[in-house]
Amino acid sequence: MGSNLGDKLAYCRHAVACLAQLDGTHVTAVSKIYRTAPVDYQDQNWFVNLALAIETVLAPDALLAALKRIQRSAGQGEKSIRFGPRRLDLDILLYGRQIIQTPLLTVPHPRMHRRRFVLKPLCDIDPGLVHPVRGESVRALLNRLDPCEQQIEEIKEDVRTTGFCMP
Ligand code: AMP
Repeated sequence: MGSNLGDKLAYCRHAVACLAQLDGTHVTAVSKIYRTAPVDYQDQNWFVNLALAIETVLAPDALLAALKRIQRSAGQGEKSIRFGPRRLDLDILLYGRQIIQTPLLTVPHPRMHRRRFVLKPLCDIDPGLVHPVRGESVRALLNRLDPCEQQIEEIKEDVRTTGFCMP
């Protein structure tokens, strides 16, 4: 997830709490939290980014619909600038080892393998996670990135709200 408008951490906390309460869904891991430089469209604020692992009974399209509902509940409408500023952006990076290509959903996320703000939090969760199309671990993909590009720094914060309970 990512946010770069308003109270970014609060939007991320809201999303974590919503995901933890989603029917048939458990949050099984939360990455560290990062402050990251914008990529693609660079004339905007830095982002807060983190990744979650969940176990869910929701099929990919139902999960995507749930993520869109959570985005809207944070006041995030459709974006006018591609890769531009957003209060809350929730993406499905991986869904087990499934490869999904529909008009609404591409999994693995098509740009995840070249984004430090995705790969670094995924490595916190499990560096051995394998990208099912590239056949490489997220650690190997992260090591491949140019160390001079895509600044990222850890923020010592906790997005788990009161009452949040890891299984
Ligand atoms: P963006 O604003 O760049 O996050 O794109 C949002 C749109 O991308 C959504 O309306 C989805 O239909 C589509 N999409 C395709 N693949 C994914 C994915 N893996 N996770 C989230 N959204 C996706």
